[in-house]
Amino acid sequence: MTNQHRTGIRRWLKGLFLKRVHRMITCKEFEAFVLGYLDGELSNRQRSVFEWHLRICRECRDYLAAYRRTVELGRAVVSSSKEPVAEDVPEDLIKAILDTREY
Ligand SMILES: [Zn+2]
Repeated sequence: MTNQHRTGIRRWLKGLFLKRVHRMITCKEFEAFVLGYLDGELSNRQRSVFEWHLRICRECRDYLAAYRRTVELGRAVVSSSKEPVAEDVPEDLIKAILDTREY
């Protein structure tokens, strides 16, 4: 069994735990909410569920931080589209996202 498998099982168990015990969202559902959260499009209830998960789950905190950084850089690129994009940025960002994203 690889580390990746173990992490996957841990996340799966955590998902079961969150769903059955706390009736909260899983990490996968959390990821689906990230974009709406950053755009302020979640309902009050969705946002409180989202933020609750954020408090108890370090992996998703890391994921959100990486996601936020990407979105901010994306906006910076759009707002200064005449400026050349630094060559080392995209690869690092993709890696940061991939590193925090495990299925
Ligand atoms: Zn999570």
